[in-house]
Amino acid sequence: MSTSNTTKPEHQIYCRECGNLISKKASMCPHCGLSYAEAPKQPFNAEPRFLATLLLCWFLGVFGVHRFYTGHTTIGIIQLFTLGGCGIWVIIDFILIVTGGYKDSNGVPIRANG
Ligand SMILES: [Zn+2]
Repeated sequence: MSTSNTTKPEHQIYCRECGNLISKKASMCPHCGLSYAEAPKQPFNAEPRFLATLLLCWFLGVFGVHRFYTGHTTIGIIQLFTLGGCGIWVIIDFILIVTGGYKDSNGVPIRANG
């Protein structure tokens, strides 16, 4: 292997966690262990979206991020400015997501198992 310089080869990306150059095809960063496994693209497999929505609601729910993520842009903006309805709205959303009652802007339920 030749010594690498500042140019980024086409088949490599910078790890968004540790900043090291890793292969685009790597499913996991060898430096920090961050997973890069691609989410399945089938529209009816809701599991990756469920987890993402759940985590976004939990960590960034007061900014309405889970609402933006699921297409509810207007509600997302309202939650952003009200800090998730003072947190209460976010808790309700979180419970809805956990219980499978949460839907995206197309009315498709976001469930743990599609
Ligand atoms: Zn990394």
